[in-house]
Amino acid sequence: MTRRESLKFFLAAGIWTALKGRVNAAQPTSMKDIENLQKNWKALLAEGTKLPLPSEPLKLSKEEWRKRLDPTQFNVLREEGTEPPGTSPLNNEKRPGVFVCIGCNLALFTSDMKYESGTGWPSFFTTIPGAFGTSTDYKLILPRTEYHCIRCGGHHGHIFDDGPPPTGKRWCNNGVALRFLPRDTKKS
Ligand SMILES: [Zn+2]
Repeated sequence: MTRRESLKFFLAAGIWTALKGRVNAAQPTSMKDIENLQKNWKALLAEGTKLPLPSEPLKLSKEEWRKRLDPTQFNVLREEGTEPPGTSPLNNEKRPGVFVCIGCNLALFTSDMKYESGTGWPSFFTTIPGAFGTSTDYKLILPRTEYHCIRCGGHHGHIFDDGPPPTGKRWCNNGVALRFLPRDTKKS
């Protein structure tokens, strides 16, 4: 590519990104912005998508979970395992959309809540309200806040205090525990 061609390419890419809108949505700066992201999360859902509510619990036996999930998913969700860093394709997922629990389809995060933490795990600075419950675990001796899907109880990750402002939180999520539903289902 010549310099002029590459300049044209980057200009076109910039216009395309601007047209696509939310791809590079401004980072939230206040807790009011965060509240708005939480309140308006359904705007990132593809039209006509039906998802379960947090108030409809899904309880299955260990054996039923084993059948429903693959061994890696089972290890994370039902045995509080951790996937190796850098292994999830969702690390690079930047399209507008919603992340749901792979165990039960509960909506957990939107693309607007995701950021690049550099840790090798999909990371979010806030969540869809009411999606998770938390507990303290001592697996690494120092106490950590574990969080799990409020609907199926599946373990998803841990919360750390090194996230970006204004929340300062990093919800460090195992990619195998998530399924991504792009908002724009038609190929663009
Ligand atoms: Zn779940």
